[in-house]
Amino acid sequence: MKINVTRSSIPPLAEYIDDIRELWDTRWLTNMGIKHKTLETMLKEHLGVNSLSLTSSGHLALEICLQAFELKGEVITTPFTFASTTHAIVRMGLTPIFCDIDHETYVIDANKIESMITEHTCAILPVHVYGNMCDVEKIADIAERYNLKVIYDAAHAFGVKYKGKGVGTFGDASMFSFHATKVFNTIEGGAVCSSDPEIITRIAMLKNFGITKQDTVGYIGTNAKMNEFCAAMGICNLRHINEEIAKRKFIFHAYSTRLSDVIGLSIPSIQPHTVPNYAYYPIIINEREFGIDRDELAAALAEKNIFVRKYFYPLTNSFGCYKDLYSAEDTPVAHNISQRVLALPIYADLTEGDVDRVCDAIIAARKQRFL
Ligand SMILES: *Cc1c(COP(=O)(O)O)cnc(C)c1O
Repeated sequence: MKINVTRSSIPPLAEYIDDIRELWDTRWLTNMGIKHKTLETMLKEHLGVNSLSLTSSGHLALEICLQAFELKGEVITTPFTFASTTHAIVRMGLTPIFCDIDHETYVIDANKIESMITEHTCAILPVHVYGNMCDVEKIADIAERYNLKVIYDAAHAFGVKYKGKGVGTFGDASMFSFHATKVFNTIEGGAVCSSDPEIITRIAMLKNFGITKQDTVGYIGTNAKMNEFCAAMGICNLRHINEEIAKRKFIFHAYSTRLSDVIGLSIPSIQPHTVPNYAYYPIIINEREFGIDRDELAAALAEKNIFVRKYFYPLTNSFGCYKDLYSAEDTPVAHNISQRVLALPIYADLTEGDVDRVCDAIIAARKQRFL
């Protein structure tokens, strides 16, 4: 039996059918219908944020968020992220400036931000990688002193809390992704939340072609509206989110129990003052002690029908489309981690037996080298 790195959470079929039944009567399939409104309300409550706008994807949420703040110039970010983060900056006519990451949490190294600020810097776009919280306090302090916007890529961090506050309450705005592979999904989808309702109002217009009111188009917007079927999937999935995260938590700890004393592996830890969402289980391979490198381990697992993910590899600053402008050598910690990290399978339905199979295969791959 194949074990994939992830498997989407879905509600019981009957529950979803019940939820979409009224769409057959109303024929209101998209454009801020009842499901869209309901999900926005539910998510504001769940995430503990004042204002939020749903979008058709996390990526478009990020693009229109950058547009809404009318930014120009340089944005300090990291290359240890999904293609979306860097692409959104560039596609909105801004220049990414790559800061290195912290070697334990893989988020932006807040101590290195200040030295990268120039007269052209307009914003900081950090990523809560694997659901790990960025140093929101230090980043807020820097942003205030230099008058910069802070927009978080919280695609990994749905439901995470820090010191009792929802992850989406930090910075000027946060983007969430509700892609099928994320902790909470709407099939495809995303959202922006902000403490500034005016920004959210503007985003609501930008996602609908910039139409400000009937017969008035105030912005050069795009089409990033979430449709009713995706919103209904979100409503159903949100009803089950606490159980889903509890199951992930069990899997997370089952891995840690089995892998904590394997020499040559670093396992993830829980940050202080944080309620995590157990979105990912990244391990770091120390080749000298483990005997084989990350790529060899991934290949050994694939032979046993276990599919892990080199996440994040390659760094965005070494993508073909950016390689003439940037280099992975500019961010040595991120470069090093991206060559040694492996995200293990984790999802709500993964069984304890599956965890054992993955761990047995990892331990066997190491043993074989030291035979
Ligand atoms: C998934 C993801 C995105 C993009 O979200 P989509 O909903 O797939 O468009 C952006 N940033 C990070 C870090 C992600 O993991």
